[in-house]
Order: sequence, then C-alpha cells, then structure tokens
Amino acid sequence: QSTATATTTAVDWNKYSYIASDDGGYWELKPQYAYQGCGPARIPHCKPADSHNPSQHPSQHRHPAATAITGDAAETRYTCLSPGCPAKPFKRHADLQRHYAQVHLDSSSRDSHTCDYARCARSTEPFGRLDHFRDHLRDYHQEDICKRGSQVDEKWLKGRKVSSRWWRCTKCLTRVDVAKAPDHVCPRCKMVCEDKRKRVRGW
Ligand SMILES: [Zn+2]
Ligand SMILES: [Zn+2]
Ligand SMILES: [Zn+2]
Repeated sequence: QSTATATTTAVDWNKYSYIASDDGGYWELKPQYAYQGCGPARIPHCKPADSHNPSQHPSQHRHPAATAITGDAAETRYTCLSPGCPAKPFKRHADLQRHYAQVHLDSSSRDSHTCDYARCARSTEPFGRLDHFRDHLRDYHQEDICKRGSQVDEKWLKGRKVSSRWWRCTKCLTRVDVAKAPDHVCPRCKMVCEDKRKRVRGW
C-alpha cells in the first residue's frame, strides 16, 4: 500500500527551479526530488497559481462593449514565478532572466557574468561563460588578465591598462579594491595577486 504518501495537493515550490526560456519559461522539479515522484516534473510558466483570479489583473478589466481589446492582449509580460517575489512583471524576457540570475541564484550556480564597466554594452548583456568574460576583459578593456594557464609576460603587462587602486582576480574575475583588501587577496576565492601584476602597479 502506498496511499499514505499520495496526498500531495499543493505544489512545494522549494522543490522546483525556474528555467527561463523564450516562451516564458517553466518550473522544473529539482533532480534531488525527482526520484520521490512528489510532483509533476515540469510546470509551465503560463499557469501561475492565481491565473483564475481576474481581479489580480486590473489592466485586463473589461472595456466598454464598443472597444476592441486586442491591443492589450498582444502585450506580453514576463512574470517572475519565484515564490513570494515582489518584482513587477518584466517587458523583456532578458530582463526577467537577469533579475532571476541576480536575485534568485546563489553565486555558485550563477552562470551569467555581467561586465562591471558601467558604460560597457555587456554590463546589461551578461556572458554565459566565465572564459568569455575573461576574453572580453583582456581584449576589449585591455586588462592584465592573461589566458588561463599561461605565464604573466612582463612586456605584455606594460601595454595593459592597469589601475593602482584595484586589480582583478585571475581566477574568479572579481574586481578587488585595494582600499578594501590591502593584502591583495581576492575576498571571494582567496587567490593572491601575482607578483608581476603587483609590480606593474607600483605595489
Ligand atoms: Zn523574482
Ligand atoms: Zn565590458
Ligand atoms: Zn577571486
């Protein structure tokens, strides 16, 4: 008899991860819960729990009979479905993705890397891979981040744009402010700034 465990009626959102996709995304049962069979494997984005309650959508109030309502219906909004999230629906799917990555993913599972130069186009269009962010910092911003596994070349370093106030961790690409970390150790991954990179900064 297995009736004792078959009483799941409400969805336990803690067991789901939100996966963003072009058609609005969906909730996926986390792998560690999948074997328990404690809910549907996927719940589509288009069926939020309150979709049956029209009073939650004041913009969709009935128009006078003569007015066409097709214009409103065509407007798409992307709603964050993380339980209890107060964020307003987003106009663009990319905005929802960024919000989700910034607010709901912990740093270890985050796979989007936004450039920290305020005026850079990639400050709003994150890189999916850390390596691509690394290449961007080296090739576009002329930073002294060398390719992974290669030696720091002193001649090359002299032509790079470096600041004596900060350096960037080669490993996790965090910008490290010397005023906050005078020991030149990355606060995030504990990597120490390479000696040659210190020297070129006059430290
Ligand atoms: Zn959210
Ligand atoms: Zn950039
Ligand atoms: Zn680091």
